[in-house]
Amino acid sequence: MLYAHIYTKIHTLITFDNEIYRESGIGKKGVIANSPLPITPPPHHPTTPSLIGENNDMLLHLSTWYEVQEYLYRSQGIIIPIGSTEQHGPTGLIGTDAICAEAIARGVGEQLKVMVAPTINVGMALHHAAFPGTISLRPSTMILVIGEYITSLAKAGFNKFFFINGHGGNIATLKAAFSETYTILADLNLPNAHLVQCQVGNWFMASGVYQLAKELYGNQEGSHATPSEVALTQYLYPEAIKQAPLAVEVARGHQIYGAADFRRRYPDGRMGSNPALATPEHGQQFYEVAVKELSNSYLEFLNSY
Ligand SMILES: [Zn+2]
Repeated sequence: MLYAHIYTKIHTLITFDNEIYRESGIGKKGVIANSPLPITPPPHHPTTPSLIGENNDMLLHLSTWYEVQEYLYRSQGIIIPIGSTEQHGPTGLIGTDAICAEAIARGVGEQLKVMVAPTINVGMALHHAAFPGTISLRPSTMILVIGEYITSLAKAGFNKFFFINGHGGNIATLKAAFSETYTILADLNLPNAHLVQCQVGNWFMASGVYQLAKELYGNQEGSHATPSEVALTQYLYPEAIKQAPLAVEVARGHQIYGAADFRRRYPDGRMGSNPALATPEHGQQFYEVAVKELSNSYLEFLNSY
């Protein structure tokens, strides 16, 4: 199928491609939107979430150690955005998973006044390695990276680690990393080792996000390079909206094996998705729903024992 969208806000005919890598990932259907016109994206508006995030005072990397120490007097919770750097089909941004996780994490941090750690931009994406631009950690490396993040922060006094995740392929390795880290912290005899808890919040699996994607896209949501995640990146970075021809038919439903096999089964990188359905306006809806739900999840986690 072909789909064309007119992004009236910028008076430009555009096409998009979104991808959200769902853990169980399955394909969806190809779509396209084509425009003979070059996209002239609007500049970042100061109220877009990415800039809101950059301006908020809850970012660890924009804090001093005095401020972090002060924060620890009132809370031992921290949010760590984690994404991936991997192909997202012909029109999805390589950084989609990290961009989405970071924006939502910053939104939650700002809303709840929770400190947000630097984004882990590279995750476990070995199955996407046959496409140019993909950068991946091996699971064993990622376990070490996650362990070092947590250990460093736990030594400072943080106890509750809430990972806002944008990539389904990270989930298994994150959970393995948590198990490893609990043992490492105990072996280090950190005084707070027994208090450390870690949890993953997958924004794309939040019930409201799932429901909205179903309403907007039906089975064309697919499982990788999904219109919902593409829509969110379009909302955050309208100047980076891409267009490309998309095949009408797109594979879906195959198991994931190695990188070469993935590319053979999913030649343009999409898995059952039609990212041409995405719009920046949809992206704003996904952002708001995800921030709300993950804020609730964070509070639930923080207040649990
Ligand atoms: Zn993705």
